[in-house]
Amino acid sequence: MILLNDFKRQYSSIKDQIQNAVDAVGESGWLILGKEVQVFEETIQRMLQCQYAIGCASGLDALELAMRALDVKSGDKILTTPLSAFATTLAILRIGAKPVFVDVDATGLIELNQCDAVLKQDPNIKFMIPVHLYGHALNLTALRQLKQKYQIHIIEDCAQAICANSAGQPVGSVGDLAACSLYPTKNLGCFGDGGFVMTNNTVYAEKIKSLRDYGQTTKYEHTILGMNSRLDELQAAILNRALLPKLHEFTQRRKDIAKAYLQNINNPLIQLPEIPKDSDSVWHLFPTLSEDRDAFQTFLKQNDIQSAVHYPKLITDQAALTDVKDSYEIYGALDMAQKFARCELSLPLNPFLTDEEVSKVIKVCNQWKA
Ligand SMILES: *Cc1c(COP(=O)(O)O)cnc(C)c1O
Repeated sequence: MILLNDFKRQYSSIKDQIQNAVDAVGESGWLILGKEVQVFEETIQRMLQCQYAIGCASGLDALELAMRALDVKSGDKILTTPLSAFATTLAILRIGAKPVFVDVDATGLIELNQCDAVLKQDPNIKFMIPVHLYGHALNLTALRQLKQKYQIHIIEDCAQAICANSAGQPVGSVGDLAACSLYPTKNLGCFGDGGFVMTNNTVYAEKIKSLRDYGQTTKYEHTILGMNSRLDELQAAILNRALLPKLHEFTQRRKDIAKAYLQNINNPLIQLPEIPKDSDSVWHLFPTLSEDRDAFQTFLKQNDIQSAVHYPKLITDQAALTDVKDSYEIYGALDMAQKFARCELSLPLNPFLTDEEVSKVIKVCNQWKA
């Protein structure tokens, strides 16, 4: 089977470095918030050109910590997308804030012209959480213009797009803060759960460092109600020694595979991904669209190729929202987002695919007939 994610191959390629990481942490005698987390944060700061990176327990928590840094209050409206991992909206709902959804464009990312229209119409919206979905970078020039025009605070959800650029600017550089996940399937995944927040604002950074550690400023001095959302030393050590050193190589391999798919899949029944203007995408996923998606998926499976739908149900159709009165708003129709829910199918794309496997995926895609 050609897999979407291949954690066994990943492990065998970096086994020695992982064992060194475990040894280093064990021998250091320090397991929580020590040198490894600090080195990880400094590496991210250098690599992604941000002043502060703060490790935490997950991407979901990174979003919540970022909102709490901005002092988002219960009832505040937050503009966001209905097509994403559920966590994007879950973080908003956990704060007690109210997501306002607009449609996506043909790339699957939030439609920025619609965002402009809704921000114009509703001056009560002061926050936005856009998502750099599938590894594409939203148009950051347009995003910055929205931020300035409407004086809104932005948290960029970069969980799927670490190292992606828009016209040479890294994702995460426009928002007041950016949230990233280290969930194993992500382009930079650790060996379990993890995440981090990025910001250039010292006040936000200090607040997040306190919030992730019970809200303490110094030991046993609790000035705000915090949470327990720390990145483990063990995860940080594995990231530092095994995964971060490979990130650029793995990202380049993803780009090369995506390029091969884009150049060689030429079946009129399969619509290839559209890319946002100026995006240097890092191809977390390879989202195709087909009217007969389920038949396409069955055909791939018969040929030993795994695939998956991102996402089969819009966030606005999830019972966790629809069962709670007034918990969200929708602006306009969500036709394009619904099209993705109905037609999207992601092909295998991971750094461990061999050239033969990539060729097989292309061949099988081109053989499929409805
Ligand atoms: C994975 C993901 C998250 C959540 O990250 P976790 O680490 O699983 O909590 C949030 N947003 C997006 C876009 C994601 O893909």
